[in-house]
Amino acid sequence: DPGAWQRELRAHFPIVTGHPELAYLDSAATAQKPQAVLDTVQTYLTTSNANSARGTYTWANRTTELVERTRERVARFLGDPGTGGPVVHFTGGTTEGLRTIARDWLPGFLRDGDEIVVPDADHQANIVPWLEAQRQLAREGVRVRVVPMPYQSGSGDYDHRALAERAGPRTRFVATTHVHHVYGGDMNVQRIRRAVGPDAVICLDAAQSVGHLPVSVADLDVDFVVFSGHKALALPGSGAVWARQARGPAFVPGGWSGTPNTVGIASLEAALDWLDAAGVDRIERWTADLASRLTDGLRRLDAYEILGCPLSLAADAPVQRRQGIVSLRHHAIDSGDLGFILFSHGFMVRSDHHCQGDAGEKTGSVRVSLHVYNTVEEIDRLLSVLASLG
Ligand code: PMP
Repeated sequence: DPGAWQRELRAHFPIVTGHPELAYLDSAATAQKPQAVLDTVQTYLTTSNANSARGTYTWANRTTELVERTRERVARFLGDPGTGGPVVHFTGGTTEGLRTIARDWLPGFLRDGDEIVVPDADHQANIVPWLEAQRQLAREGVRVRVVPMPYQSGSGDYDHRALAERAGPRTRFVATTHVHHVYGGDMNVQRIRRAVGPDAVICLDAAQSVGHLPVSVADLDVDFVVFSGHKALALPGSGAVWARQARGPAFVPGGWSGTPNTVGIASLEAALDWLDAAGVDRIERWTADLASRLTDGLRRLDAYEILGCPLSLAADAPVQRRQGIVSLRHHAIDSGDLGFILFSHGFMVRSDHHCQGDAGEKTGSVRVSLHVYNTVEEIDRLLSVLASLG
């Protein structure tokens, strides 16, 4: 019974159960934390807090072990078969992870005349670092092609044909989101791999997928996976880059000598344990089902437009399931105003441009984003408030 399963898990989130009059629908911005993560933070800080350099005393040793153990934990969580080659580097989050790859790895990889392909509708965090790298490498003739992959309203996916047309023999690096932070579509990484060929490096912005659906590097054939701990139930300021190190030079990020975010790393280990015990595949089903319920309800309301809703799938597109993110617009009410109206009814949503890199979404939207603590009742209540504004 998925309902009973979800009720039990929802009870693990004190901020959610403590505010039954509110509905948190902004998990794509940051996720709430289960009690196990809160307990781990408290326990770590009250029993083991120390720096992680090799020490001669118990707390330092425990912290060093925690950091190394969590590196392996992250790799295992990402389905890394553990061949010993890949590395896990801790960062403050996705933005820092992507910048670290651009700064510390990309210059040693790219050759004169190479092209980087970046989709224009991605989060700015996955566009700006590559443009900055290009500026620094300009004299070597490296080009960044911000590929206009107009979000095909109706496909729920990027336009993979456009990608295949624009990716050429000089395309050696592709940055892409896994799950789009506004449209909720799964970007179908296997098709991106087919479009760019076996030799290009694919760097995956997994900010909206890790912790929400199973992410398996064995299945995806990507070279980098970058994510934020805070969107995966851990503390802000934690996150990681997983690097395969098969295509191109080894990933040796700078900054190893600084103090890592030890308590963030402790929270990340606890969060991944919690997610594995809950079952990430079941979390995906739950949030995708809620998103379907919401889009089904919205389609009956004439006043609303759903962004990127898979209404009519292109004939050659395999059906991509929308993940737990739905962005919408009212035909007459400004999205910012709609956000305020919804909060007056207890709904916490995000309403703006969502840091999107392209200029195509100027008018903004209201984004409803879900996690395991969200309920059918919240979606139905939201739909009835939206209907009343029709
Ligand atoms: N990429 C995507 C797809 C995101 O949704 C976000 C967060 N909104 C980021 C990158 C940036 O993540 P962070 O702020 O944790 O660095």
